[in-house]
Amino acid sequence: MPMIIGKILENEKRVKFNVEIHCTNCGKKVPGGILAGVRYSQTKAFKIELENFKKKYLCGICRDKKRLEKH
Ligand SMILES: [Zn+2]
Repeated sequence: MPMIIGKILENEKRVKFNVEIHCTNCGKKVPGGILAGVRYSQTKAFKIELENFKKKYLCGICRDKKRLEKH
């Protein structure tokens, strides 16, 4: 399932980006791409958010591991 970046208004057109996202911990590639609202996808804020998202992304397994380590 694609991940949504930013807010998408109810009746807004969506754009799908086939960007490759890798888990920053194990390097696993995450399928699905990214969805954003048309208007937001054209802003600089979106590009910044996308870059930050890619830098911080953890796959489900690594996220669970991290959560367990904290307890
Ligand atoms: Zn991972």
